[in-house]
Amino acid sequence: MSYQMFTFAVMIEQKPTHTSLSELGEFGLIDHLTAGIAPQHASSVKGIGDDAAVIDTGDAYSLISTDLLNEGIHFDLAYVPLKHLGYKAAVVNFSDIYAMNGTPKQITVGIAVSNRFSLEALEEFYAGIRLACEKYQVDIVGGDTTSSRAGLFVSITVVGTVEKQDVVYRSTAGEHDLICVSGDLGSAYAGLLLLEREKAVFLADPNMQPDLEGYDYPIERQLKPEARRDIVALFKEHGIKPTAMIDVSDGLASELLHICKSSGVGCSVYEEKIPIDISTITLCDSMNIDPTTAAMNGGEDYELLFTISQRDYEAIRKFQEVSVIGHVMDAGSGMNLISRSGQAIPITAQGWDALREEENLDF
Ligand code: ADP
Ligand code: MG
Repeated sequence: MSYQMFTFAVMIEQKPTHTSLSELGEFGLIDHLTAGIAPQHASSVKGIGDDAAVIDTGDAYSLISTDLLNEGIHFDLAYVPLKHLGYKAAVVNFSDIYAMNGTPKQITVGIAVSNRFSLEALEEFYAGIRLACEKYQVDIVGGDTTSSRAGLFVSITVVGTVEKQDVVYRSTAGEHDLICVSGDLGSAYAGLLLLEREKAVFLADPNMQPDLEGYDYPIERQLKPEARRDIVALFKEHGIKPTAMIDVSDGLASELLHICKSSGVGCSVYEEKIPIDISTITLCDSMNIDPTTAAMNGGEDYELLFTISQRDYEAIRKFQEVSVIGHVMDAGSGMNLISRSGQAIPITAQGWDALREEENLDF
């Protein structure tokens, strides 16, 4: 078919209706586009729907995951140093491998850059990626480099490994299991709001210096997150295998829903048990934000949310970096946050879409 005929054929086949992507949201869009995709190879053990795909490579499983960062959507170079951006872009990928109870081993790095960036700027960015890879012992094994009309795009793919018997999915939480989370939540979001606030102040009056005093922790959590390799190492050391696991990239609410929906269970999570750092509580108070909302719907904490069998409670209790925040219920009980006053509040899929509803393409 000639090019002209082809374009004509495309034109007449185009449906007259246009469905706005904002009606679907990120997860609705992924579900829609990937509906009915089934693996053709027995080696594709787990495809779409977890933190990483699981491929049978013989003795062990390989894990693969990709994350795309887009300037103006995921980061703002007005306050994100390029070295931090490189570090974070790598670490958020490692986090998805730890969420499968695995070990990241290699990454490939795709970048699209406009001529607004100097060589020195990109060296800084790469210094961040290199630093993360040194720290987490991951090799940079390839990538792709191209130009962009505007802005910087970064797409990193990570490959990891896990012993077959150790792999942990989102979909295997069982009724009566305990729900646990590492570290603390909400800080990265509070840090982001603070950076946004100080940027606005600076734009209004460039003579004003940013007032970030006392908030090093939330700012560091936003700009230079770490992935929880230490928690996965603790599981191994103590012979614990979580029954389900996910990393907290979109907020506790969204991740609880992922675990519960894919496992076919419900949950009760206690507001008073959600770990929130004291500097984050102070910062949230100063900005009139409920710290629980920052933890539930903020995201980018890169902590591990996991479920364990009750028999592992005694062992997990000794992990200083882990909090037990609730338990798994039957599906009929629903998914609830039990407030400090004892009220059961249904957990809804607000995650990031609700927080950023004006920018409805912000995945
Ligand atoms: P995470 O937050 O852990 O990075 P995502 O929410 O981005 O995971 O993705 C959820 C699942 O959907 C993953 O299994 C991912 O591989 C898959 N996925 C995301 N976007 C696409 C796409 N465009 N096509 C196919 N699969 C996708
Ligand atoms: Mg993830």
